[in-house]
Amino acid sequence: MLQQTQVDTVIPYYQRFLVRFPSVNALAEARAEEVLKLWENLGYYSRARHLHAAAKEIVARCGGRLPQDRKELLGLPGIGEYTAAAILSMAFGLPVAAIDGNVSRVISRLYALRKPLGSPESRRPIRDLADQLLSQRHPGPFNQAMMDLGATVCTPRTPSCPSCPLRGLCMAERKGLQGKVPVPGKRPVPCHKPMTAAIIADRKKRVLVVRRPASGLLGGLWKFPGGERGATEAVKEALVRTVREELGVSIRVGEEVAWVKHAYTHFRVTFHVHRCAIERGQPESHEGREWKWVPAARLRRLALSKAERKILDALHS
Ligand code: SF4
Repeated sequence: MLQQTQVDTVIPYYQRFLVRFPSVNALAEARAEEVLKLWENLGYYSRARHLHAAAKEIVARCGGRLPQDRKELLGLPGIGEYTAAAILSMAFGLPVAAIDGNVSRVISRLYALRKPLGSPESRRPIRDLADQLLSQRHPGPFNQAMMDLGATVCTPRTPSCPSCPLRGLCMAERKGLQGKVPVPGKRPVPCHKPMTAAIIADRKKRVLVVRRPASGLLGGLWKFPGGERGATEAVKEALVRTVREELGVSIRVGEEVAWVKHAYTHFRVTFHVHRCAIERGQPESHEGREWKWVPAARLRRLALSKAERKILDALHS
């Protein structure tokens, strides 16, 4: 939960998650829908799907216990080098350095490394130095201390050097290079995606929703029908096309009822939301996508993305 997300945000999610899933078995037996619902608004939903899938594998293949072996850990869904190192050092006390963005920054400053962070030229020296620094007797507390130092003292913009316990060892501080090290890596400019969403209600005031495929961005969450608009496509054309592709029905596009912006890490979206009605056909499951009619009053009980919640808020404002 803490990857890409701050501690204060995570705490209530973590507590609710552990109350509902107090063991790996409880998580393995849960429905995907319920896991996603407890993750709702934390973002990066692939983490929840991977955690759920990993719990199932741990129960099925490892007798319900996390393996203590790096390779076996790396074979579980959602576990990469960093998470495997964190588990091995913190849960099992094994001497493996865990290197996240905070640790990379601290090491870059301690040794005044001038290679761009995240670049192949910087990864190797940071890994070697982290291995050399690692406490063999207390690898878990050492890794946590390095992460916390980066998160709270050696922060990206204004490191608190006067109160830093590593001040006497720090080459960047000695040379006055804290503002220049680490050299930032190149960031892609976030692109913008124009999106459409159709609010289709039936006579019983139920609203049509579609479930995203299990893999991919926001996988497994429910959404309003619609999708990305092509560069030269009008909003109405895009609505007709995307709803037909998703559900196999022809729609009549009515008035625009909301206009919603949302930003993800690597791109921004703007939703044009229109009230629509089915003209021809019955919704069908295309490419295995689930769909259902949901009473309008119960839409918020579904596992939805933040953007979908913003659309709901806009409809009721
Ligand atoms: S002295 Fe300053 S730059 Fe160096 S590790 Fe400490 S906080 Fe970071």
